[in-house]
Amino acid sequence: MPDTDILGGHHRVVVVGGGQAGLAMSWHLRRRRVGHLVLERHRVGHEWRARRWDTFCLVTPNWQCQLPGFPYAGPDPHGFMGRDEVVRYLEDYAASFDPPLREGVEVTGLERTAAGVFALTTGDGTVTADQVVVATGPYHTPAVPRMAERLPAGVTQLHSSQYRGPAQLPDGAVLVVGTGQSGCQIAEDLHLAGRRVHLAVGGAPRVARFYRGRDVVAWLADMGYYDKGIDEFADADAVRFRVNHYVTGRDGGRDIDLRAFARDGMRLHGRLTAIAGGTAAFAGDLRHNLDHADAVAESIKDTIDQFIAVRGIEAPTERRYVPVWAPPSDHPSTLDLTAAGVSAVVWATGFHRDHRWVRVPVFDGRGYPTHQRGVTSCPGLYFLGLPWQHTWGSGRFSGVARDAEHLADRIAAMDRQWAVEEVRWIAGTPPERVPS
Ligand SMILES: Cc1cc2nc3c(=O)[nH]c(=O)nc-3n(C[C@H](O)[C@H](O)[C@H](O)COP(=O)(O)OP(=O)(O)OC[C@H]3O[C@@H](n4cnc5c(N)ncnc54)[C@H](O)[C@@H]3O)c2cc1C
Repeated sequence: MPDTDILGGHHRVVVVGGGQAGLAMSWHLRRRRVGHLVLERHRVGHEWRARRWDTFCLVTPNWQCQLPGFPYAGPDPHGFMGRDEVVRYLEDYAASFDPPLREGVEVTGLERTAAGVFALTTGDGTVTADQVVVATGPYHTPAVPRMAERLPAGVTQLHSSQYRGPAQLPDGAVLVVGTGQSGCQIAEDLHLAGRRVHLAVGGAPRVARFYRGRDVVAWLADMGYYDKGIDEFADADAVRFRVNHYVTGRDGGRDIDLRAFARDGMRLHGRLTAIAGGTAAFAGDLRHNLDHADAVAESIKDTIDQFIAVRGIEAPTERRYVPVWAPPSDHPSTLDLTAAGVSAVVWATGFHRDHRWVRVPVFDGRGYPTHQRGVTSCPGLYFLGLPWQHTWGSGRFSGVARDAEHLADRIAAMDRQWAVEEVRWIAGTPPERVPS
């Protein structure tokens, strides 16, 4: 009987989540012959299939899709897979090694029993396991500020994870709130479709797509940025939670220049601070936020220049960025939503983590799981796929393999110890249920 038919039984390892992290974990466990079960509440690829817009593209080049045993092998390594291609990549990955996967099973509770094993509550009954890997992704609940409740009743509002395309929104102008990767790309999507867009610009940095003849990601990879461990940063905590740079992979990849959008008719505002009486109010930080984003992009270019010079690399020179627009000094700080014809708001304001179903005391005051490279202080409990779990690539396609491999070694070692305990049990020696 395959492992996956034993719901309700005991398993050596249960992996919760069948996204890229859960599958990568399974691949490495399979390689070490560690029996396990992967539980996925929807289907493989669900996050990409159900929570990305129609024109979504990766921002990281395809060659960075380095799932273990299944590196990207398509025709466009320097391109950027669209949403449906990413889903197919994950489906093909699962098909490539046939993991012991049960789809449609949600884990609603995880506890450690007095016997030292883990009990997982699912809609199909309780499963127990010696070891558990939580690979449920980093982006759980849409984070929508409560001021959303104060929007006029007639305004359609949705979170970026619900946005599919311009046709989904009623006619009229759209206010996009937030300029992380999602906000910028959704604002561009609407802008390119001819919609009047208002964009509340936050403090996210930007990065150029290409510089001196190559994708900036390729330069950063060569410079070791994706290999640098979180522990090497003096401000590790800040690094772990900082917002990613905005750029796009659309149409083969290009910069996202909010100033160019403004020049071409998009209305930029500072950070959204309040909604009252049908009017949105914005902080006076638009100029600062645009300058900051440009300064980060240019400083990355400085670093690349230095790398090229020190290594003596042959690379074409390139003119630096010249701002094409700046907010006038009398830039309005409020927007009358009705007068501006705003019919919809897209909240591109990120996600909250929700690990409340993990009822094991390993969390800090923010609900973030404390861990060392995914290994928690509770023996046998691990996390995988957290942003900056170990490196910049940890929460992405590029680095999850390395983290899964690290955990698989730990899990396999503990699995061997469990096996020894079981032999002792059979031999009549009192077992020590929790391997040290
Ligand atoms: C808008 C956006 C753009 C991104 N762009 C890129 C990019 O260009 N390049 C890149 O490398 N990365 C990108 N990422 C980041 C990253 O690749 C994704 O977040 C990725 O989905 C993380 O994989 P994961 O397996 O850790 O989590 P997920 O993909 O979230 O998978 C977790 C799985 O666990 C399941 N699950 C959750 N809870 C339970 C439960 N209780 N029981 C059972 N199953 C459960 C979910 O259904 C899901 O299938 C992007 C992320 C976002 C949000």
